Amino acid sequence: MYLSAETRLKAILEGTGAGTWEFNLDTEEVIFNDRWASMLGYTLEELAPISFQTWSRLCHPDDVEAAHRALDAYLRGDSPQYECVLRMLHKNGSWRYIHTRGTLFANRHDSHVRWLMGTHLDVTEEKRSQHQLRQLAESLPGVIYTFVMEPDGQYRFSFLSRKTEEFYGVATEAAMADPELLFNLIHPDDLPRLRESIVTSATTLQQWVCDYRIVQNSGTQWVRGISQPERHPDGSTTWHGITTNIDDQKRLELKLERLSITDELTGLYNLRYLLMKLDECAAETERYGATFSVASLDIDFFKSVNDRWGHPTGDRVLKGIAELLQQRTRRADIVARTGGEEFIVLMPRTGRDEARHLMETLRNELTQKVFTSDNGDSFGVTLSAGVASWTEHTGSVSHLLSACDRSLYAAKHAGRNRVLIDSR
Ligand code: GH3
Ligand code: MG
Ligand code: MG
Repeated sequence: MYLSAETRLKAILEGTGAGTWEFNLDTEEVIFNDRWASMLGYTLEELAPISFQTWSRLCHPDDVEAAHRALDAYLRGDSPQYECVLRMLHKNGSWRYIHTRGTLFANRHDSHVRWLMGTHLDVTEEKRSQHQLRQLAESLPGVIYTFVMEPDGQYRFSFLSRKTEEFYGVATEAAMADPELLFNLIHPDDLPRLRESIVTSATTLQQWVCDYRIVQNSGTQWVRGISQPERHPDGSTTWHGITTNIDDQKRLELKLERLSITDELTGLYNLRYLLMKLDECAAETERYGATFSVASLDIDFFKSVNDRWGHPTGDRVLKGIAELLQQRTRRADIVARTGGEEFIVLMPRTGRDEARHLMETLRNELTQKVFTSDNGDSFGVTLSAGVASWTEHTGSVSHLLSACDRSLYAAKHAGRNRVLIDSR
């Protein structure tokens, strides 16, 4: 079926709901179509006589300037078309957002006449839902974001809500221009884990969840990022998600974790933690072959300390010994209070002789230490220790601990204040 160009154009304009306008830049003559007027609640007759002033009268005073700037930019050749979104007054008194576009049409026969021709589209609803979305994003207790990763591994944020500033101390626009501004603020201990989790999520397309710390001048905060990945046909992946502050929860969690592995009186590790570390050491030794040693320590005649100077003095002795143990062992060693006046020292990657030497030094230092009772008496205490090292015949952690206890018992039996090693 043949359709004239005019019929086709009319059908297209009706389909899009666009108003049309024409503006002669030299004579300021204007032509609008019916839709242009009805978009603002008028008929063309009601607006007659139509002139440039019809437009400027209906345009929001704060937007006139922006329209002129957009036109200048187009006429200078800085933008491919004249384009802006303006507020225009509807007959019912409300402001409508109008997306305005236009291009120059030079008449071939008379190139001196410059007509600017274009369309008006009402985008008020889009503006409104955009505004609603933004308000929603701002009211949520976290940073809303869309993170994009290209197939070549390049990444960026295509959206970040305003809360970015509060969480990271970085302006939203700056972070969108350079994502490293945010990545640079992630705690160095957490960053490798975070990057790895992104790669995993991109591979499996499983939800991404990661707890990490943001380090700012104002302090360090724990946050949790949760987002859902989505793969696109071009191979890129986007994550839509939220970052929330979990600082209080995380600090409580860490405190509970610390409490659950700590001996209350001395602050040393407890038996539970020691057994866990012993298992780890045994597994590592089975795999890599390096040996490790354990020492069981027991204070000599501690009951008489309590009997003579009272329980509180006994407690202070226990704390004093714990301090000495912590000072005189190495960073990698695990020192635990495993019973009333019993301690165990786990020495990873340490052979029998080295372990015995360490315990001997400790035992000796304790003999030099002077304690003072509540009523001012000075006194000293000694300890006995049994040392055992993991060998290919040990078999299990409990066998190793039994070997330590046997040596400790032998040390007590031999007169106390000594270190004996299991020589089996
Ligand atoms: P030995 O040389 O044979 O080890 O003699 P000992 O007196 O140290 O041995 P025993 O195991 O009979 O006594 C340990 C004492 O440690 C008994 C208890 O009163 C005391 N004790 C246990 N836990 C605590 C504590 O938390 N604080 C205080 N002050 N004393 C404790
Ligand atoms: Mg004991
Ligand atoms: Mg004892």
